[in-house]
Amino acid sequence: MTKPVLIVGAGFSGAVHARLLAEAGYHIDVIDVRPHIGGNAYDHVDANGIRVHAYGPHLFHTKNRQVAAWLRGFGDFVDYTHKVRALLPSGDLAPLPINLDTVNLVFGTAYTTAEQVATHLARVAVPNPAPANAAEYLYAQIGRELTDLFFRPYTKKMWQFDLEDMASSVVKRIPLRTDRTDTYFADDELQMMPREGYTAVFARLFDHPGISVTLQTGFDHSMLGDYSFCFNAMPIDAYFDYAEGELPYRSIRFHTRTITDAPPQDWSVTNYTDTGNLTRETRWDCLPHHIVTETGRRTITAEEPCDYRDNNRERYYPVKTADNRFQGIYAKYQKLSDELSSKLAFIGRCGTYQYLDMDQVINQSLASARRWLASRS
Ligand SMILES: Cc1cc2nc3c(=O)[nH]c(=O)nc-3n(C[C@H](O)[C@H](O)[C@H](O)COP(=O)(O)OP(=O)(O)OC[C@H]3O[C@@H](n4cnc5c(N)ncnc54)[C@H](O)[C@@H]3O)c2cc1C
Repeated sequence: MTKPVLIVGAGFSGAVHARLLAEAGYHIDVIDVRPHIGGNAYDHVDANGIRVHAYGPHLFHTKNRQVAAWLRGFGDFVDYTHKVRALLPSGDLAPLPINLDTVNLVFGTAYTTAEQVATHLARVAVPNPAPANAAEYLYAQIGRELTDLFFRPYTKKMWQFDLEDMASSVVKRIPLRTDRTDTYFADDELQMMPREGYTAVFARLFDHPGISVTLQTGFDHSMLGDYSFCFNAMPIDAYFDYAEGELPYRSIRFHTRTITDAPPQDWSVTNYTDTGNLTRETRWDCLPHHIVTETGRRTITAEEPCDYRDNNRERYYPVKTADNRFQGIYAKYQKLSDELSSKLAFIGRCGTYQYLDMDQVINQSLASARRWLASRS
C-alpha cells in the first residue's frame, strides 16, 4: 500500500489539494498548527450572535467561473456586492474606489458625467511615462490631492513605507472609476458569500473518508518519513530554518467592539484616511447572513497593521518593495525547494510568498493537485 500524503495547512490551498487527492483515492493527513480549520478564511459566530471573520473580512470575488462553480459544490453561496466608504477629515463618507461622487466630494465640484471627471483627473495628474514607484504611478493617474488623501496615510499605516518606497504593482490593482459605480469589485463578474460561513465550507471540503484532519499540530521534519509526498503551506523560510534570511510580512491586530445602536448602512467596510494607527473597520452585520442570532447587538472590528513579529508571527501580507529585495530572498528559497520536488511542494500564500486572493489560491491549487495526479497516473 502506498504511504499517505501529508498536507500542512487547513486553509484553502491545503483543503483543495486534500479534496482532489482524496477523490482520486489517496489517503490524506492534514495538519494545522491552529485550533481551527479554514486558515485565514476561518469565521465563527460571536457572543453577539454575529458571524465574524477571525482574520479580517473575506469577500469572495472572481472572474473565474470554474473556480466559483467548484466552490459552490461545497456550500450554498449567496450573491453579494461589496461596497466600501472612506471616512474623510470633513466627516463625509466617500465611495471607494474613487468615482464621480468621490471627486465631487473632495473637490467641491458638481460633475455629472464620466467625461467631466476624466478631464478633471487628466488636469490634476502629474504625467509620467515610466513611474518608478507607487507614488509616481498614482500621481500620474489621479494627481497629488487624491493620492495624498486616500493612499498616502493608508499606505504608511498598512506597510510602514512611504508610497515612494513601494512597487507600483502594489497600487496598480486599485480600480479607478469616472462614473457613479460604487461597488468595490465591479470588475469581477462573480461576487458571493457562503450562506453558512466559510468554516462550514471547509468542514464539507474535509468531509471525505480519505481525509483526516489534526489541529494544533505543527509541522516537524521527522513527519516526512511516514508519507509518500507532502504539500506544505507553511512559510517557506521557516521550513528552511531561515537559512537565506527572513521573509517579512505585515500583520494586523484586530480590535473588536460591540454597538447596540447601529444605524442601517449599505456598505460593510469603512476605510480611515487619517494618520492614526487604524486602517479600516468592518461592520459584520452588513454582510449577508452574518446576523445569525438577533441579540440587538452588533460587532465591529477595526484593523491596526503591524509587523508580524509584533503579532505572534501571524503572517498576512508578503512585503513588496520597489527594489523587490524580498522576492530575491524568496527566489533563493525556491531554488532550495526545487531539490525537494520529488517529495515536497510548497503551496499557498506563505509557501510561495505571494499575496493571493481566495479565488487565486483555489485556482492554483486545483491546477497543482491535477498536475500532481497526472504525473502519478
Ligand atoms: C486580512 C486579510 C483579508 C483578506 N481578505 C480577502 C478577501 O476579501 N478576499 C479574498 O479572496 N482573499 C482575502 N484574503 C486572502 C485569503 O486569506 C487567502 O487567499 C487564503 O487564506 C490563502 O489560503 P492559504 O491556504 O494559502 O493560506 P492560509 O489560509 O493562511 O492557510 C495556511 C494554514 O497553514 C497553517 N500553518 C502554517 N504554518 C504551519 C506549520 N508549521 N504547521 C502546521 N500548520 C501550519 C496556518 O495555521 C494556516 O491555517 C485576505 C487575507 C487577509 C490576511
